[in-house]
Amino acid sequence: MPSFNEKIRRWRLAVIGGGSAAAVQVRQGDVPPQETIVIGARWGTGMEFLGNFILQSYVEELQVSDSPGGLRSVVDPGQLRPSASQFDGYVRDSLMSSGAVLKQGRVLEIEGTEGAFLIHVLNGDGTISYVCAESVVLATGSAPRQPSRRWAEAGAVSHEVVHADIAQRRTERWAGRSVIVVGAGNSGMQAAALVAPDAAEVVLLGNRYVGMFPTENPDRFAWRAPSQLTYELVGKSALECGERKWRTPCVRHLVYDGLDVEGGRVSWTYSESRNQNPLGSRSLPGRCRHAQAAERTPSGPADWRESRDLARTTVVWATGNEPVFPGGELVATLVRDDKGALAVDEFGATSTPGVFALGACAGQPSVNETTPALVRAERRFFQRSLRPAGATAAKEVLT
Ligand SMILES: Cc1cc2nc3c(=O)[nH]c(=O)nc-3n(C[C@H](O)[C@H](O)[C@H](O)COP(=O)(O)OP(=O)(O)OC[C@H]3O[C@@H](n4cnc5c(N)ncnc54)[C@H](O)[C@@H]3O)c2cc1C
Repeated sequence: MPSFNEKIRRWRLAVIGGGSAAAVQVRQGDVPPQETIVIGARWGTGMEFLGNFILQSYVEELQVSDSPGGLRSVVDPGQLRPSASQFDGYVRDSLMSSGAVLKQGRVLEIEGTEGAFLIHVLNGDGTISYVCAESVVLATGSAPRQPSRRWAEAGAVSHEVVHADIAQRRTERWAGRSVIVVGAGNSGMQAAALVAPDAAEVVLLGNRYVGMFPTENPDRFAWRAPSQLTYELVGKSALECGERKWRTPCVRHLVYDGLDVEGGRVSWTYSESRNQNPLGSRSLPGRCRHAQAAERTPSGPADWRESRDLARTTVVWATGNEPVFPGGELVATLVRDDKGALAVDEFGATSTPGVFALGACAGQPSVNETTPALVRAERRFFQRSLRPAGATAAKEVLT
């Protein structure tokens, strides 16, 4: 392994990650691209698994720079929103034409201190190479949360698997089966719509009723347009499930209290009081033959219990995303927030001098909330400024 004294180029800045946050950093940050190396496992957004699926954000919300042409030029006329693959290509082009040097590979570890970081990179051919930089910006994004071991053993899959199957025109995983979607944010709602044409029935289990943006819920992360189809399917199937003309499966949305898998059955409980909302009230027992399978719970807070034969059920996990990081001691000891994202100050500085972060790995939840780290700005260390309430050393969070 080379030492820090070895004569390899010392970059002013190394950006780790190849998604929209990396592009924002290179295009809008305060270190010139010519002094920047970007190291990414791939070039393009982490939403690439959505393929031709139309994104929730409008074109203007997804711009990573003010360059002419931009995302609008690759989006079809009449479309407010790009597809994930159009956005992927746009991010890739933006990085490639930025003037920064791009090195493809997976960063395994970062060591060193401000002024001299050594970055270990696993190259595509299996070899390891090293990059030296004065400062590092982490832009490593996030990935869909995976089902726990118990649920994975029961066959549960993450919602990204649904998108991957659809991209390959495969529906065997859910065709003719009951589908239980755990998590009813946008990812769950959208996965439900994708499986609906082929499933026997779809039940969405959410921990709350989110509501449509912006009429029911002003939060930009409430249900967006692609989720509207599932909203409609719940209402329409409530009216028509079991009618002869109705060919689309029954789709229900329930705020649930308990979920279990045992003895070859998936079961869940729910109460009437937590389902007094536009979708829950249309999904309670009494609406159609599927909901008739519900049994009254003998006692406890939940009113109803339903179960399905695991052998004829597909469980789809859609409970959000988790930040992704390279390994190694330095990154493991960076202070994180209560969701596991890196805690950063107003300059994007982490708790370790010289290490910055932006994008999903720093808790910035959307492209237009991704702000570049100001690496050259006069440094005010994190410890003296914004230490978020509940922030704690990563090792504590992870145990
Ligand atoms: C289903 C879904 C839909 C979404 N829709 C929208 C939307 O419509 N609008 C919106 O604004 N946001 C949306 N988001 C959120 C969106 O994913 C983020 O805003 C955005 O992708 C974050 O960009 P990023 O660059 O931080 O991370 P990512 O896009 O995840 O990019 C991170 C990159 O870093 C690379 N990387 C990771 N680890 C390493 C390593 N060790 N070494 C080298 N490279 C590494 C990865 O390969 C990846 O390319 C959606 C998210 C999901 C899951």
